[in-house]
Amino acid sequence: MTNNNIYFIANWKMHGNIADINKSKSVVRLSNLKKFKKTKIIYCPPYTLLKTFCEKVKNSNISIGAQNCHSHSEYGAFTGSINAKLIKSSGAKFVILGHSENRKNGENDLIINKKIHSVLKENLNVIFCIGETLTEKKNKKTYSVLKKQITKGLKGIKKINNVMIAYEPVWSIGTGIIPNNLELLKNLSNIKKIFKKFKKSSSIKILYGGSVNPKNVRELAQIKAINGFLVGGSSLNSKKFIDIIKKTIN
Ligand code: PEP
Repeated sequence: MTNNNIYFIANWKMHGNIADINKSKSVVRLSNLKKFKKTKIIYCPPYTLLKTFCEKVKNSNISIGAQNCHSHSEYGAFTGSINAKLIKSSGAKFVILGHSENRKNGENDLIINKKIHSVLKENLNVIFCIGETLTEKKNKKTYSVLKKQITKGLKGIKKINNVMIAYEPVWSIGTGIIPNNLELLKNLSNIKKIFKKFKKSSSIKILYGGSVNPKNVRELAQIKAINGFLVGGSSLNSKKFIDIIKKTIN
């Protein structure tokens, strides 16, 4: 694990209510301890909880993010949609984009690129998810998939310091299966290479996401190239989430 700030991003997906926010108090307390001052904890609850969560963590080291947004950057007639401007007004500072669960529902690289532009225009930060499916992995397409997702998704993006990449192999999300360290190292290094060639810069934070839990996190944390974790299922339980943070930092 890197010596820089270490990110722990909780993706609550379509879960969560006020009681769950209150249960995260133990995480808020942990984030304020000196030992964990290098940890950056970001909760990404559903839109309905953004504002309340922002108010609850106001005096802590925790930040709040949304899980997606509409690609249109201005207000407009888009029934049922939330854009970056509305997210900003909730107090949230981050937006997860390109998540495979949304790509699966038709979100393509072009739309994701538009979304990234709109989020950066509001001076928010992007957690940009990329990753190959099982079929792509089996067909040895991982490199070309990652290259396409990075080059199309980040096309024309200038404020690259406000973007971090979350490498999430689709076959690992919610399955309990994680890549072995050798495979992970290879893919992380390819992501760095692709990014460097494309943006002429090597300064990009890369997180790992996919079935991170208290049992496998120590092994994952051995990988130097990782700047943190995007955690789905295990982030819904504060005890497990704290366990993940403690095992990474210790
Ligand atoms: C995710 O959906 O971003 C994720 C990492 O999920 P899980 O940890 O449940 O695999």
